[in-house]
Amino acid sequence: MASAASLIKYTKLFINNEFVDSVSKKTFPTLNPTNGAKIIDISEGDKEDIDKAVQAAKAAFSRGAPWRKMDASTRGKLIIKLADLIERDINTLAKLETLDNGKPLSDSTLDIQCSIDVLRYYGGYCDKIHGNTIPADGDCLSLTRKEPVGVVGQIIPWNYPIMMQIWKWGPALAAGCTMVLKPAEQTPITALALAALVKEAGFPPGVVNVVPGYGPTAGAALALHKDVNKVAFTGSTIVGKKIMEYSAQSNLKRVSLELGGKSPLVVFNDADLDEAVEIAHNAIFGNHGQNCCAGSRTFVQSGIYDAFVQKAVQKAKLRKVGDPFDPNVQQGPQIDKPSLDKILRLIDSGKKEGAKLEIGGSRIGTEGYFVEPTVFSNVTDAMSIAKEEIFGPVQSILKFETLEEVIERANDTYYGLAAGVITKNIDTALTFAQAVQAGSVWVNCYDYITPQTPFGGYKMSGIGREMGAESLDAYVETKTISIKLPTKV
Ligand code: NAD
Repeated sequence: MASAASLIKYTKLFINNEFVDSVSKKTFPTLNPTNGAKIIDISEGDKEDIDKAVQAAKAAFSRGAPWRKMDASTRGKLIIKLADLIERDINTLAKLETLDNGKPLSDSTLDIQCSIDVLRYYGGYCDKIHGNTIPADGDCLSLTRKEPVGVVGQIIPWNYPIMMQIWKWGPALAAGCTMVLKPAEQTPITALALAALVKEAGFPPGVVNVVPGYGPTAGAALALHKDVNKVAFTGSTIVGKKIMEYSAQSNLKRVSLELGGKSPLVVFNDADLDEAVEIAHNAIFGNHGQNCCAGSRTFVQSGIYDAFVQKAVQKAKLRKVGDPFDPNVQQGPQIDKPSLDKILRLIDSGKKEGAKLEIGGSRIGTEGYFVEPTVFSNVTDAMSIAKEEIFGPVQSILKFETLEEVIERANDTYYGLAAGVITKNIDTALTFAQAVQAGSVWVNCYDYITPQTPFGGYKMSGIGREMGAESLDAYVETKTISIKLPTKV
């Protein structure tokens, strides 16, 4: 682990392609979730730093600036160059991610590989962002241009630090925007390492800026800034609501939100039991349960309920928890103490509210933030563990009888990020897929997310979509130009 810390090269704010101290010269510690100890001090951005970064991004977006004059295809090549540099440094970046976040090294590597794919996808899009010519009434030729929205503020969480950063950067860069990113205070290290690669790739100064800091200070300053034209936020629903308020209080900047979830995964009697148990296990325990689209309500039909619970418990028992640098480990620590406390509080509520604790339920050790893989059966809809986002390794298994009943119960939530259904009956699968209120529905699989497929939430899970062509919509304005013609034909 000491060797991973020795790989850290950048700890300052990245503004205008330079690493600089914060105006206040203040720093904050980023902690190692494996033992709670400080890894390193990071420059702490606040309102004045955000202002400097926004001004840099604004200048980089100004008329005549290199980024604005650059051919779209050249912009694409730069994005692909950035992907190549990330690929070159994948081992270092993965170690830094694991050090700061606590996820197993193989998971960090996979996250980065997915991020590289996302950048390459959007790199290819730059010169394909087309407007239309429109057969408008009267003697005009009307056409539309898709223009970059301008300076974008990006605020991201700690659970997939590199991936969330690239989900924000890819489409924003493809559209020709400039940006200021505020990483989560828990995981600033890889955000700054990626910033160095932006400079190395050859992006003009000011196109990409990274300002670490806390949410209510740096994050709020970014979302309230009047020269920011759009804010893209991923995080909790409660902060997502604030982001909308900040937009209303400032300049009505465009807002896209990727928020929390309480996603149902529904297993029918006809499913292959072992396969279903495996999918459901990965859906909730992947990334230590710290996954916005975690399958956190496992609905199992009554005919296979008892057998499913038994196998789910066996699977949880085999899950290896420990040092995320150990290649045999599948689950590292939770991100921090508040997160650990919330998970333990909700486990406690499950016990008190009458769910049956099948396995787990406790903290592991006293150092770091490790939680036993936990399975509850006999969970009912009104229990807190069936309603609140736990964001931890806690599987809640609920029983159902019919398709109609489970559709209603699956939708009985303010969230609507994702859902899964496991069945061999195509009618059942498609009826559920159509009826469930969720931005992504996975049939006989879970967490199938690719650069090409839009991802985002219904209801209080968010506004807008990331990934796929649809993501670009959030980063462009449509301008209609109508040109008077001497005659119609
Ligand atoms: P969080 O909302 O507390 O923090 C997210 C980011 O917002 C951080 O960078 C934080 O510093 C910043 N922030 C906090 N308060 C702010 C404020 N007042 N103004 C501006 N910025 C502020 O969320 P978290 O606990 O870090 O992340 C977990 C949450 O993120 C979960 O709810 C999870 O479901 C969600 N999430 C959603 C997706 C998705 O794609 N839908 C992906 C990952 C995580």
